[in-house]
Amino acid sequence: MKKTTGLFHDELCLWHSTQGLFSLVLPVGSWVQPPPSAGLAESPESKRRAISLIEVSGLSQGISIQSAPSANEANLMTVHPTKYLKKFQELSLDGGGEIGTFAPFGPGSYEIAKKSAGLAIEAVDSVLSGRLKNAYSMSRPPGHHCGRETPMGFCLLANVAIAIEVARKKYGLKKIAVVDWDVHHGNGTQEIFYNRSDVLTISLHQEGCFPPGYSGLDDLGEGDGKGFNINIPLMPGGGHQAYTHAMRKIVLPAINRYQPELLVVASGYDAGGFDPLGRMLLHSESYRSMTDMMKAAASEHCGGKLVVVHEGGYSEAHVPFCVHAVIESLSEKRTEVTDPSLEMMESWQPNNRFNDLQNKLIEEIATKHHL
Ligand SMILES: [Zn+2]
Repeated sequence: MKKTTGLFHDELCLWHSTQGLFSLVLPVGSWVQPPPSAGLAESPESKRRAISLIEVSGLSQGISIQSAPSANEANLMTVHPTKYLKKFQELSLDGGGEIGTFAPFGPGSYEIAKKSAGLAIEAVDSVLSGRLKNAYSMSRPPGHHCGRETPMGFCLLANVAIAIEVARKKYGLKKIAVVDWDVHHGNGTQEIFYNRSDVLTISLHQEGCFPPGYSGLDDLGEGDGKGFNINIPLMPGGGHQAYTHAMRKIVLPAINRYQPELLVVASGYDAGGFDPLGRMLLHSESYRSMTDMMKAAASEHCGGKLVVVHEGGYSEAHVPFCVHAVIESLSEKRTEVTDPSLEMMESWQPNNRFNDLQNKLIEEIATKHHL
């Protein structure tokens, strides 16, 4: 049986480390006691446990799991200036440190970040070349907060943007859509494509969460890019209903209008109900539903060409179930795995008064974008 879904993963990405320097997001020192174990919220465990669950459930047998070459300098330079890459490489050789706005890393992370970007490049290439129908890139460190020379929020290289630029050059694509459902704003991706119409960027995020205070409602793109950047800030506390309504009212109509040749999802799991860095209430079935919607949109417009790239998500217990649901959806395989938190999270969903208000705000955003 031909395996049509790829999972691009490399153990090296789990070695990116700031061990002992942070407790959740607080730098150790002063009143902050060194952490007992995981340390920085952005740790390998959520990813490692997701891969483990995929193995244990048997889902691994129905998909093609593979690594990829690291991104090379030419790949990186499609997005990042040499000056930034040099600075990152030097600090990495020097044992690591802080390179931007909350973008800390340990020794060797430059090479690891090149592997992370390489996985995304290969995931996109495998789909565009027709080797696979769709693919998931388990990229770490993540990328969506990283601008051309402004690393931020755990993101050191702009994985999705790099993969898009490499693919655009190789395959001559004219229209690519990125949907970012990480709970935080996809500000790096937005910055990189802000003046361009060949990449439609859509970000659903908790309003004001990160970058701190940012909403983005009125940031529509500039120049040729005007109208090709859509921000969907959502109220804290929203859950399955808010996201699926925003998908139906804004994301899917925007994709239908744009008709992309490739669909990329920047998939953060920090909109999940257990996440320590977000205040939204998605559960694993929400991630499954949203992936189903993206798959249907990709089938309609671009022969099913869909690539999902891992971004944030800091609940080590919950993220694996959400990743598993996304990959089950991509591969159209259902295992016996059930999410033990699902029933509780369904009971946490906001009431109708909240949802009515959020729906109204979503419809206002749709109107703003003439959708
Ligand atoms: Zn995030």
